Amino acid sequence: MTEPVFTTIFEPFRIHSVEPLTMTTREQRRAALAAAGHNLFRVDAKDVLIDLLTDSGTGAMSKDQWAALQHGDESYAGSPSYYLFRDAVRALFPFEHVIPTHQGRAAERILFSVLGGPGKVIPNNTHFDTTRANIEYTGATAVDLVVAEGRDPASEYPFKGDVDVAALDRLLSERGPDVPVVMVTITNNSGGGQPVSLANLHAVREVCDAHGKPLFLDACRFAENAWFIKTREAGQGDRAVVDIVREIAGLADGMTMSAKKDPMGNIGGWLALADDDLARRCRDLLILTEGFPTYGGLAGRDLEALAQGLHEVVDHDYLRYRIRSTEYVGNALHEAGIPVVRPIGGHAVYIDARAMLPHIDPLAYPGQSLAVALYEVGGIRTCEIGTVMFGRQPDGTEQAAALDLFRLAIPRRTYTQSHMDYVVEVCRHVADHAGELAGLRIVEEPPTLRHFTATFEPLGTSSP
Ligand SMILES: *Cc1c(COP(=O)(O)O)cnc(C)c1O
Repeated sequence: MTEPVFTTIFEPFRIHSVEPLTMTTREQRRAALAAAGHNLFRVDAKDVLIDLLTDSGTGAMSKDQWAALQHGDESYAGSPSYYLFRDAVRALFPFEHVIPTHQGRAAERILFSVLGGPGKVIPNNTHFDTTRANIEYTGATAVDLVVAEGRDPASEYPFKGDVDVAALDRLLSERGPDVPVVMVTITNNSGGGQPVSLANLHAVREVCDAHGKPLFLDACRFAENAWFIKTREAGQGDRAVVDIVREIAGLADGMTMSAKKDPMGNIGGWLALADDDLARRCRDLLILTEGFPTYGGLAGRDLEALAQGLHEVVDHDYLRYRIRSTEYVGNALHEAGIPVVRPIGGHAVYIDARAMLPHIDPLAYPGQSLAVALYEVGGIRTCEIGTVMFGRQPDGTEQAAALDLFRLAIPRRTYTQSHMDYVVEVCRHVADHAGELAGLRIVEEPPTLRHFTATFEPLGTSSP
């Protein structure tokens, strides 16, 4: 008898402790939406059934991570928990300086406070919202140079996070002295959770070398990116993910990191880099607002949990499940005729709201309209990634974003296949009633990162 091949997507864990989920009625959700100004960031978590707002810090820790918390050493300076954390980071990213921060944006703020400033230009495949905001806050300009395929939601190109290397070369030729650092985000979150190929990272390194520029990774989803390289890039299939990660790290001069993503933490981040002088200047700023360099805004126990999470995230069984289970949701929506960004990203499924709601102008926020509908209909919380998030320009004017997407971000190891089947069911219902949805207008907004706190008013009645 030949060995049977089973195709069920298998969660490589069983449940260790449970969190009850509470159903709400549509009336309750309508009231919650009104009270929150139709901004899902303002809705209380207790009123959410399935929370796909973000995969940031929302994953489930393993029993070994919970056990690691007990080993936390809370010494102010030189805690052994720091060294354990530093060595776990260095096992994957062998940078001389590993500077813990309370989360990724703190690493960004510190790095760009040192390297940014008026007149500076910082390229990336696509800047994440906090990265862009931290760059612009210093007066510098954030430039997105993703390949053309990365801007086409229907393109099946396997590495839609790749940098347009010719455009990068042109920018560095024209503005060289103004560019302090080149960034690459793996995977490209704002561009649809799309991976960057190893070949492209090598090409970016060559351009950086030719122009004498440092390369920094925004490495939040490095393990998912490495899995995509292993499974999609020619010649990489037999390699271990840790090997691929180390090769990527070897191409860079430093990294910013949110430990709330692939390191499986509920909080944390770091800045790691090779250059001594830059590290000294970053540490000086760290002490000013984050804390002493061996804890940087984290408790010793957090550092322990992250060190353990870094071991777990590069496990092939975990990554196979992670990528396949996200793909499962994306494929089910695709088969239902819902316009999803293809191929399916690593941590999230992105839906092309502009294609789904062609009757709503981008400046009436089709992504927000769908996110609101999904919550009202099924208690599912998602996140707009489009004109609400990126439409406001530094000069205060407003412009349609390149894409109007909304995102179903899947927390790590948290929901089961049946939760995801429910999500698909609700999405299909909303898609069937898409023509009935209205747009929204912004009532109040802050000057930066407006999507977190802005309030909205529907431009008509929708009853999906
Ligand atoms: C989440 C994220 C950040 C910011 O990290 P926080 O921990 O949320 O501050 C930066 N870049 C990317 C690509 C991210 O996904």
